[in-house]
Amino acid sequence: MRFFSHRRRPVHLGPFPLERLPRAGDIAGAKTGTLPADPNPAGEDGVAHAVPEYQQLFARFLDGKVAPSKAPIPDDPVVRAHNLKAAAYFLDVAQAATCEIPADAWLAGDRPAHTHALVFLVEFGREPLAGDPGEAWIRGSQVARGDLRAAEVAVVMSGYLRNMGYVARGHVTGTALVDIGRLVVQSGLARVENGVLVNPYLGRRFRAAAVTTDYAVAADSPLAPKTLGNRWRSHGPAWWLGAGGARPGWARLEGGLANPRRPLHLGSAPMEKIRRVPEPTTLVLGDEIVRQPKRANFFTRALMGDLGDKPKRERLRFATKNPYAFAMTPLIREMVPMQGGETASRRRELADASANADAIKALGYCLGADLIGICEASPWMWYSHYDDGRPIEPYHKYAVVMLIDQGFETMEGASGDDWISGAQSMRAYLRGAEIAGVMAAHLRRLGHPARSQTNADSDILQIPPTLMAGLGELSRIGELVLSPFVGPRFKTVVLTTSLPLAVDLPIDFGLQDFCEQCNKCARECPCAAIPFGPKVMFNGYEMWKPDVEKCTKYRVNNAKGSACGRCMKTCPYNTEGLLTHRLFLWLAIHVPWTRRWIARLDDKVGNGSINPVKKWWFDLEMVDGVSVLPKGVNARGLDLEAAKRAKGQTLAFFPPSVSPPPGAKEPLEPDRAAGIRAYAQAETPAQARARLARR
Ligand code: SF4
Ligand code: SF4
Repeated sequence: MRFFSHRRRPVHLGPFPLERLPRAGDIAGAKTGTLPADPNPAGEDGVAHAVPEYQQLFARFLDGKVAPSKAPIPDDPVVRAHNLKAAAYFLDVAQAATCEIPADAWLAGDRPAHTHALVFLVEFGREPLAGDPGEAWIRGSQVARGDLRAAEVAVVMSGYLRNMGYVARGHVTGTALVDIGRLVVQSGLARVENGVLVNPYLGRRFRAAAVTTDYAVAADSPLAPKTLGNRWRSHGPAWWLGAGGARPGWARLEGGLANPRRPLHLGSAPMEKIRRVPEPTTLVLGDEIVRQPKRANFFTRALMGDLGDKPKRERLRFATKNPYAFAMTPLIREMVPMQGGETASRRRELADASANADAIKALGYCLGADLIGICEASPWMWYSHYDDGRPIEPYHKYAVVMLIDQGFETMEGASGDDWISGAQSMRAYLRGAEIAGVMAAHLRRLGHPARSQTNADSDILQIPPTLMAGLGELSRIGELVLSPFVGPRFKTVVLTTSLPLAVDLPIDFGLQDFCEQCNKCARECPCAAIPFGPKVMFNGYEMWKPDVEKCTKYRVNNAKGSACGRCMKTCPYNTEGLLTHRLFLWLAIHVPWTRRWIARLDDKVGNGSINPVKKWWFDLEMVDGVSVLPKGVNARGLDLEAAKRAKGQTLAFFPPSVSPPPGAKEPLEPDRAAGIRAYAQAETPAQARARLARR
């Protein structure tokens, strides 16, 4: 939590005030050093042993094919450097810098004709304190975790440059053609002390990687020598307080100085302060829910041609047609075969469900999940059939649900349906698949069956376990569980397992009433897919049922952007997480009459508008393997008049009885007229409750 907003801080500056660090023309001391190491060795049960298979996979994509022509982007090397750094910060690096590659940075062997480098640091995460849950699994994994994340960023950043027509290669420890330490010093990210790289803000708590390229960018300078005066400039009161929106010195580590005893398994958001309830705040009639085949999912229906030829074509590229998002696809695709696998025959006895739950949460948080909850993976949560028509038998008892924040800063600079929108989703999907994949591999290594369930391949629906694991309530957006702390701005990944786990209860933070008072998402949806009207019953769920056909068509056909997340962007719960936002959250939870007032105030202060300070990306579209200028860009402001559309809104839904049968190969157009009639005749939640009372 911070006091000062970073709304006026451009994304390329990053979370640390690197601009305060005095620079020098030349390197004063040693020109290279070794990367900081983990002070602890990994134990036999450490997660570090599950990481190498992912590192090996990622290493395969550090280099690759270059697009045949160059993207129409600015020549200005400063603009280019800002874009590269911001793109790296979007992937959560702690610090990023650029430099020209000095001749002595190349190691013996191949020396490609690269001139410049992007260099970045990945910060060591928090670890459990001695005796805290997860310690045996996590301790000694800093290097493995840091290098894996660094490899992820190196793959995406080098792929991004190649997709724009520039030669580029990622370098991580173990597969580098360059001396990473040399580039870290050259770009001013560290000095060398006793042979080891030391960063002014991170000390010896980081790993580093680089991308080398022929893409000319403005270079940063090395750090000036460490003197008392220089230290005062970089570490004075402004740094300590976080003035200007940089990360404040007093909270150097999340949960660190600010709250040193907070156990890692509780996460950084105070979920323990949110009220738990035995049942969700919306009806969920598990015994009435008809399990659906994967074929009934509307994105699958688009792919199969149910929605017409254009959605069928666009479905394959709609979220990845920007060169930056496209750079994430190889990892997302190639991690799928690793989601499941053989369970080791040697089984580590882990019978304490409560201790296991805390340890698995600690592991998820240290790998980078933002919020975690656990529930039983009830049979009604699973798809009924695979794409090819084979039935799915629920195979694991528990679901560990993890939320990956899509990030406030980039959302702030976007319309929600412009050319970065697809990358926002893909980044969260990629990260989630990486985290849950490593966790599943770790559990299998300990002899407990586990599988990660990702956006690329999931046998379980993601929304029901997110609701039952107490991570949020169903919102007006419809098929979205909204979190009190990251709002709707997240993607989920689920880890299913047979490891005994204590489960969480659903939560109640007053969202049903808040969404009754607010209809901003309905108003701002570009295709009016979100209901202005009341909740209905749909296949056993009480919900504001969105028109999924309209939404899917808009997202896949969007010609002035890539995909859509405008409902997330404009929701009042999409906040920066400042102290003031926590105060409004407290009011919304505890003082019901303020909810309407808060929803109106959100419009009054312009929340949900585009903040140009935060727009860092190039508007580009990949067409036939080349990045070109798109035909248009969605740049929407708030549309306060759009509520007029409420009167004429028609919505359709498609219950299981009219869904495509499992494995259907031929296109099956939805019967929209019947869908509209079905919506109009839907049972109300009050009727459902009365019916239940008569049972
Ligand atoms: Fe509407 Fe876009 Fe949200 Fe779909 S994703 S409901 S089209 S705002
Ligand atoms: Fe609820 Fe308003 Fe957010 Fe929509 S925009 S989900 S109505 S709080």
